[in-house]
Amino acid sequence: MTDELTREQTPTAAHIELTEGYAAHNYHPLRVVLSSGEGAWVTDVEGNRYLDCLAGYSALNFGHGHPRLLQRAHEQLDRLTLTSRAFYNDQLGPFARDLCALTGKEMMLPMNSGAEAVETAIKVARRWGYLVKGVPDGQANIVAMDGNFHGRTTTIVSFSTDPDATTHYAPYTGGFRVVPYGDLSALEAAVDENTVAVLLEPIQGEGGVIIPPEGYLRGVRTLCNKHEMLMIADEIQSGLARTGRTFACDHEDVTPDMYILGKALGGGLYPVSAVAANADVLGVITPGTHGSTFGGNPLAAAIGSEVCAMLAEGEFQARAEKLGGYLADGLASMVGNGLDAVRARGLWAGVDIDPGLATGRSITEALLDRGVLAKEAHGQTVRLAPPLVATEQDLDVLIDAFRAVTAG
Ligand SMILES: *Cc1c(COP(=O)(O)O)cnc(C)c1O
Repeated sequence: MTDELTREQTPTAAHIELTEGYAAHNYHPLRVVLSSGEGAWVTDVEGNRYLDCLAGYSALNFGHGHPRLLQRAHEQLDRLTLTSRAFYNDQLGPFARDLCALTGKEMMLPMNSGAEAVETAIKVARRWGYLVKGVPDGQANIVAMDGNFHGRTTTIVSFSTDPDATTHYAPYTGGFRVVPYGDLSALEAAVDENTVAVLLEPIQGEGGVIIPPEGYLRGVRTLCNKHEMLMIADEIQSGLARTGRTFACDHEDVTPDMYILGKALGGGLYPVSAVAANADVLGVITPGTHGSTFGGNPLAAAIGSEVCAMLAEGEFQARAEKLGGYLADGLASMVGNGLDAVRARGLWAGVDIDPGLATGRSITEALLDRGVLAKEAHGQTVRLAPPLVATEQDLDVLIDAFRAVTAG
């Protein structure tokens, strides 16, 4: 027998073969098969440990298996998990109250995935446009940003500018206009009397941690007031302490009319999303006009209110700011030496790799070999977002690995 036939397949190879054999190929994962995690670290099926610097695209802000979240989830799992909204449950009310306290809003509407919360925001904005602003029925438009990422539904990809996300999914949903991100005059030129909302990420995460020019969010707020449009902040990735503040909008002291939240709202344990707004906006939703079988279920609500309680203490926001400064300093020394640029806000960095050196993908593969998990954003950018429970020593592991793989 040849070597090929006698060689045992590794557990890693076996799991990859199964996944690629039976699951659709909508992702191109790094070749690592994870089986457990604790805090900022995960372990693969062969017992190797890795520092998780993607953190579930910021869904794992509190790390893997945070004891406080696990305990609350276990308790609720044993008691009651699903009622549907046909009945009240004893977890949704407290969660709604806690999320309103965290956002400073009067009402919330719970959903499950981020994309569903974005869809909810779009529906609310249109309804608000017809019922409150007085836009003629069917005429509402919403302005979104070039380079956006808001999810994967048919309506949401209708205003995506990423060909991978849109090609061969036509026909698209109408009623959206796209303008360059960070450009206030382009935004003002695009609005008319039928514009009901401006939808934006206060920092574009999938776009490569793109931070708009200082004052941009305040400018958007002013334009929204001037033209009677809702400012909708998709804080699904940027919110809940990642940037060093509860919301990325807080950096400019801007309050949007609607927050869209997801990812870390479920503590990395469960899909939990929501929109939060005042009653003059969310009040346009009446019984039967929107809903979700799982949205607001007791397990989701229990986890969501524990997340709100953890964020109310401010500790995670402070950690993100302090650790983010440490990471940014560590990476800054490599700019001009393998790195073209580093953009950072809190514990969230977009690192542009010198195209003469390597691609984003090849850097993530090299980081994997050094025990660091990261994901490229677009092409040359590697996005770094370790869990906020990471330590400075953990960040040293990341910085040292980065230095080694960009050393050329
Ligand atoms: C991840 C993300 C979404 C979509 O969330 P899903 O839970 O994957 O549907 C929407 N907006 C932003 C900014 C995101 O980062």
